[in-house]
Amino acid sequence: MDRYDCLIIGAGIAGITAGIYLKRSNLSALVLDKDAPGGKLNNIHRIDNYPGTPKIAGPELAMSLYNQASELGVTFDYGAVSEIKKVDGIFVVTTDMTSYEAKSIIVATGIENKKLGVPGEAEFNGKGVSYCATCDGNFFKGKPVVVYGYKDHAVEDAIYLSSLASSVLLLAPEVLETTQAHREELLAAGNVTLVENAKLLQILGENKVSGVRYETAQGEKEAETEAVFQLFGEKSSSMFLSSLGVNMNKGFIEVDANMKTNVEGLYAAGDVLDKKLRQLVNAAGEASVAATSAISYVHSLKK
Ligand SMILES: Cc1cc2nc3c(=O)[nH]c(=O)nc-3n(C[C@H](O)[C@H](O)[C@H](O)COP(=O)(O)OP(=O)(O)OC[C@H]3O[C@@H](n4cnc5c(N)ncnc54)[C@H](O)[C@@H]3O)c2cc1C
Repeated sequence: MDRYDCLIIGAGIAGITAGIYLKRSNLSALVLDKDAPGGKLNNIHRIDNYPGTPKIAGPELAMSLYNQASELGVTFDYGAVSEIKKVDGIFVVTTDMTSYEAKSIIVATGIENKKLGVPGEAEFNGKGVSYCATCDGNFFKGKPVVVYGYKDHAVEDAIYLSSLASSVLLLAPEVLETTQAHREELLAAGNVTLVENAKLLQILGENKVSGVRYETAQGEKEAETEAVFQLFGEKSSSMFLSSLGVNMNKGFIEVDANMKTNVEGLYAAGDVLDKKLRQLVNAAGEASVAATSAISYVHSLKK
């Protein structure tokens, strides 16, 4: 079984950044992902707030990070991690393909979309229900669409879709949590209607989405649409940690200022953390701290 100084789970911006720091320290590191490198970056059509890269497309930043890490010699592998155990001070990581050993671990598995469970959501998944505007928006050129969410990325998706769809109805289950710049851009788009404090009740259709039913303080309403994007709700991707006894808050990992968990040798970074702000810039920053902590830990084992 291969044994690494550090095994990084998740190849989003946090995981790849950690890989770059570890490799530059001359330690052996493997970055594992169940999907393509880049994580959530692959779902972002335009990033305006990552320093030094104005208006970059998410997949372009993902490719640039992947190339930078690969050129340094960071190793990537595919696999969905299902369990981690610690045996005699060494972590044993099991995926759907194989097992690995590592002296230290960095968990950078981000968050997943939590299904809302409203009628029609499962039935029309892929038939108008989409969790990725960047991936599927093009299928709805010139058609009316709905975006459901209230955070910054739902607003970004609504702005993006306004350039493709005939109209965008942004149903926000709470008051929008967004930047002033995004709010202004949203309201400047002539074909976007914003309804705040609107609860999605049902996605309507027969073989595909044809409308939504929602509720506001004024009562229930229906709207015609061909697609529903960005269903609101997120959960952390950390189920595989259950047997290790890692301290968590609602599935989000608790760390100290050095990105250390309560399990020695296990660190975490990025969206999977129990924190308020989930953005690229702090995911990368936390990963640099997690990697630096893992490097010190691995060196301490050699003494
Ligand atoms: C639509 C949208 C727009 C956004 N726009 C912006 C923006 O403009 N600016 C900004 O700063 N932030 C933005 N964000 C937030 C930003 O994308 C995230 O904060 C950031 O990408 C988190 O990076 P991460 O590395 O922590 O996690 P992720 O990018 O989610 O990467 C986690 C990786 O772990 C993998 N993984 C999960 N579980 C397992 C497992 N069991 N085994 C193996 N691999 C696993 C996943 O496949 C994934 O590749 C946006 C998010 C979305 C959804």
